Amino acid sequence: MPARVISGKQVAAEIRQALSGRVEALRARGVVPGLGVILVGDDPASHSYVKSKEKACQELTLHSVVRRMPATASQQEVVAQVEAFNRDPAIHGILVQLPLPDQIDEQAVILAIRPEKDVDGFHPVNVGNLHIGSRCFVPCTPAGVMELIERSGFQLKGAHAVVVGRSNIVGKPVAMLLLSRHATVTMCHSRTRDLPAVTRTADVLVAAVGKAELIKGDWIKPGAVVIDVGVNRLGDRLVGDVDFASASPVAGFITPVPGGVGPMTITMLIKNSIEAAERTLG
Ligand code: NDP
Repeated sequence: MPARVISGKQVAAEIRQALSGRVEALRARGVVPGLGVILVGDDPASHSYVKSKEKACQELTLHSVVRRMPATASQQEVVAQVEAFNRDPAIHGILVQLPLPDQIDEQAVILAIRPEKDVDGFHPVNVGNLHIGSRCFVPCTPAGVMELIERSGFQLKGAHAVVVGRSNIVGKPVAMLLLSRHATVTMCHSRTRDLPAVTRTADVLVAAVGKAELIKGDWIKPGAVVIDVGVNRLGDRLVGDVDFASASPVAGFITPVPGGVGPMTITMLIKNSIEAAERTLG
């Protein structure tokens, strides 16, 4: 039987519906959640992501401010903009669109964000709190991955979850979240020996590699939940890290690319921004 396809688009729409109630409740108390975005340079993908984020804010009637800065902006100028958002009471969440141009140290910019406004969850305080299981902002893509697994109805407790990719923004936080839900977690990366042998043991497989259609159907355990984070251009198509055609007859659940994890990421950003606004009310 072919896998059930988990539509991130549909799940995101359901979550946004629920979020609109929280926005209204805040509005009734005189608070409009505000997101401040900093976009440096001319990277077309970054511009397109920021546009989608602005659109999502508009749809949910959030206040959003985008500061577009030239590719030549200095680290000092970017940090000054972060600090201006830190001080602005109308801005509850701050997002610095990555990657930043080479002359800017990304970590220094992230460190400048007040942790209570760090809705991307990249500040070391939030990263640390995620690891020790304290309240934090969970990075948006990993949070979206977890929502999709939850919607599949799969019970993570005791299951073997394999995460391919160990980046700070996807692989590591996903692994930590899976562990917090009592999965047994294996992390794989470019030096992993015999990757297919490891992925074949996964009840839940999360692919966050950035290699078009790397993971084939015969790398997947029959009935597994497969979450494909990858977004890769292959000719004129966007494809994931999983070869959907050969994987979907084997998996139990699978996310498509596009329309899987992507729409969830922005929804989780909105969710974190609303939460940041709610926290200001105590
Ligand atoms: P990174 O490039 O930061 O990390 C990629 C990881 O994959 C690294 O840990 C690397 O290992 C590992 N890797 C690379 N090649 C192989 C291989 N052949 N076998 C096993 N592991 C390998 O990527 P990101 O985590 O930032 O992103 C991953 C993918 O997810 C990309 O396609 C990106 O576009 C997409 N993405 C999608 C988002 C969405 O909203 N849908 C959001 C963020 C990312 P090593 O550490 O050893 O180098």
